[in-house]
Amino acid sequence: MTGVLDARDRDEAIRALAAGPLDVLVIGGGITGAGAALDAASRGLRVGLVESRDLAAGTSSRSSKLIHGGLRYLEQGDFKLVREALRERDLLVSRLAPHLVRPVPFLYPLYRKVVERPYVGAGLVIYDAMEGVKRPVPHHRHLTTRGALRRAPALRPDRLAGAMVYYDAQVDDARYTVTVARTAARYGATVVTRATATSLLRDGSRVTGASVLDEESGRVFDVRAARVIVCAGVWSDLVHEASGVRAGYQVRMSKGVHLVMPRSAIDADTGMIVRTSKSVLFFIPWDTRWIVGTTDTDWSGDRAEPAVTPEDVDYILGEANRVLARPLTRGDVLAVYAGLRPLVAEPAGESRAGDRAGDKDGEKPTTKLSREHVVDAPLPGLVSIAGGKFTTYRLMARDVVDTATADLPGQVPASVTALLPLLGADGLPAVRASARRLADDYRVPAPVAGHLIGRYGSLATEVLELIRADRALGQPLLGGFAYLRAEVAYAVSHEGALHVEDVLARRVRLLIESPDAGVSAAPEVVAIMAGLLGWNRRRRAAELRRYQDFAAANAAALTATGPVPEVESAAPIPA
Ligand SMILES: Cc1cc2nc3c(=O)[nH]c(=O)nc-3n(C[C@H](O)[C@H](O)[C@H](O)COP(=O)(O)OP(=O)(O)OC[C@H]3O[C@@H](n4cnc5c(N)ncnc54)[C@H](O)[C@@H]3O)c2cc1C
Repeated sequence: MTGVLDARDRDEAIRALAAGPLDVLVIGGGITGAGAALDAASRGLRVGLVESRDLAAGTSSRSSKLIHGGLRYLEQGDFKLVREALRERDLLVSRLAPHLVRPVPFLYPLYRKVVERPYVGAGLVIYDAMEGVKRPVPHHRHLTTRGALRRAPALRPDRLAGAMVYYDAQVDDARYTVTVARTAARYGATVVTRATATSLLRDGSRVTGASVLDEESGRVFDVRAARVIVCAGVWSDLVHEASGVRAGYQVRMSKGVHLVMPRSAIDADTGMIVRTSKSVLFFIPWDTRWIVGTTDTDWSGDRAEPAVTPEDVDYILGEANRVLARPLTRGDVLAVYAGLRPLVAEPAGESRAGDRAGDKDGEKPTTKLSREHVVDAPLPGLVSIAGGKFTTYRLMARDVVDTATADLPGQVPASVTALLPLLGADGLPAVRASARRLADDYRVPAPVAGHLIGRYGSLATEVLELIRADRALGQPLLGGFAYLRAEVAYAVSHEGALHVEDVLARRVRLLIESPDAGVSAAPEVVAIMAGLLGWNRRRRAAELRRYQDFAAANAAALTATGPVPEVESAAPIPA
């Protein structure tokens, strides 16, 4: 039980799942499923997890990448959600994952003299007060107009009436999800990707496992488990329907789009949050990039790769341009990505009650639907969860495992994940303090050691060991980026990557960071993966083509021409 997900051990992992029986089978390898697997495995249960595509391939690699209380939920009066989320944020920053979750400042520009500052200021006082007593992130602060422009010269100065700065935290969502899954494996969970649960096994009305399709070989195998937990995000309804299960909730999909831009496009040394007519727009610093978003629109199309439309791009640019001195153009946009929020809508029967109250759930905008999670136990042996936020995944995992195991024979211990640092968090202060010595020991430049510690925490030495064994792996993967070739090898040998997309979209983030969606790095990735996974020439060519097609589909929304339309908005910025 090492916490290693070696892609070369996949067949063995499938055999282990098929041999069963398990205490708990988790369906879905997003943050909720990875969290549930960790929660259950760390209580001493025998756990398996199957994921259709790759860890975090669904919504959990496509978020705003914030670990936050959600300032706007405060305005909606959702105090419970905000309080829980802030406590989780602080736990992750300070104890569970300080190598992955980092505080980030946000500037909130004010445009209405007199009224806005007390209103926003009061909100931030509550936001700050909802944290625990020990604060791992700083308090909010007031800025004058001059102070605001010093932090963010990119803002239009006209009508700016000062600003507030408050703190939240940010994370590489896909890396975090993989780390949670690896930590689950560290406590004994068996994790298999590219494996789809196609139907549930039954003994009478009791669910006793799932039939699973190995997407790589086409073989089908059964996994027996005392409890099955569905963590399939926006696919939940499909999993229920495939087995004729009537769940107590329905998932409504809300699409959220982000644009990625170079840091030079927006002159600011802090993140920013501005109001829009529908919600808020974030400018999130992301290493050498900005991530700007998001949108919130109903979606009913393809769940796997929701399409970004030129209108989505123009909406974000238009809203951003309302507050920026130098307007952004489509030429500033390096990449786009879209994700689907698995929002919980009321089940059919209850939504009719809503109608009577004049609040038709079917017509409720998705910005207004609850971000809280719902746990449902539709059949004996089956529990299902959806909704929630990345930030609160640990609580969601605890709740769903509590429900699933409530009537298991023998006493199942309570959740221990609040006390369990993720892999890479152990010994972090010592590794950070020893960065220079590590660079010397492994004969790599100091920034390389710093880069690896920043991404892997105390596991950085595992990547450095690969470089020690093969110096060529110490070379950059792609000019202009800090990623190393060793990170590709590590993605295969320790992080379960099976295809080029798994590496370029989620283990390193070149899909959304590089102007060509990582296509120029793909041949190198294929070469490194081929050496480890034994790909022949035909397979190499097929893998390369598969990635090129995937990247091209992602870039399609940026081909629109013509000026960015101006946004008409009822929001009070600028008035
Ligand atoms: C645009 C956007 C921005 C967001 N920003 C934030 C944010 O900043 N902070 C925050 O806290 N939250 C944020 N969220 C919410 C957060 O990202 C989601 O709540 C979370 O990622 C959902 O995780 P999940 O595991 O439930 O779903 P997913 O990540 O979608 O995982 C479900 C998995 O189940 C798999 N699956 C489906 N069917 C099967 C099957 N039959 N067999 C096996 N596997 C199956 C899928 O392949 C998928 O990987 C955002 C969401 C969006 C869309």
